[in-house]
Amino acid sequence: MAELTASVYLGEGFSSPDYEPQLRDVAGRAAEATVLVAVLGGRLVGTTTLASGRTAWAEQSVTGEAVIRMLAVEPGGRGAGVGEALVRDCLERAALAGCTLVRLSSQEDMTAAHRLYERIGFTRTPSFDWSPIPGLRLRTYALPLVPWCGWCGEVLTAEGHDRCRRTADLDPPRYCAQCKRRMVVQVTPSGWTAACSEHGRRAG
Ligand SMILES: [Zn+2]
Ligand SMILES: [Zn+2]
Repeated sequence: MAELTASVYLGEGFSSPDYEPQLRDVAGRAAEATVLVAVLGGRLVGTTTLASGRTAWAEQSVTGEAVIRMLAVEPGGRGAGVGEALVRDCLERAALAGCTLVRLSSQEDMTAAHRLYERIGFTRTPSFDWSPIPGLRLRTYALPLVPWCGWCGEVLTAEGHDRCRRTADLDPPRYCAQCKRRMVVQVTPSGWTAACSEHGRRAG
């Protein structure tokens, strides 16, 4: 998996050698995040990482959001739906974990990946675009997994909700993200619980 990730990113000129130790650190990713692999005809052809919460791997996200990192599909797996299967598996896992939105960052020249993300339903989030190192600009995408923002009760969109995101790490959601009902919120010694009469309880 380290070899595949490094060869796709470095071998095809998408990354600087400074990034190689991180690209190869599969064990580090697996310790804090979920590392997925795609196998085609008995051969490893793709891998990606899904990070949720506020781990070091979940760049630019807040509580309740997940981030897809380091999607790599080797040339032999392209055109076979490998990248799409990996991304869709990430979306399912993020939804099951209770995440409301999935983010990702991608380099400007990874145009095949951009088409894939847009086909799946991700939209551009220019206000989140960023530079991890000088000279490298990353374009960002996001896909809401639920219809409503838990903090303001408005439609959850890929961009915006800045105030909601700022309080997401501290305050419990007031609205159910699935049905927009008011949650019954209780503050506990260790955090909070928020319950929807229809969709159950969340804790933070
Ligand atoms: Zn909001
Ligand atoms: Zn609900």
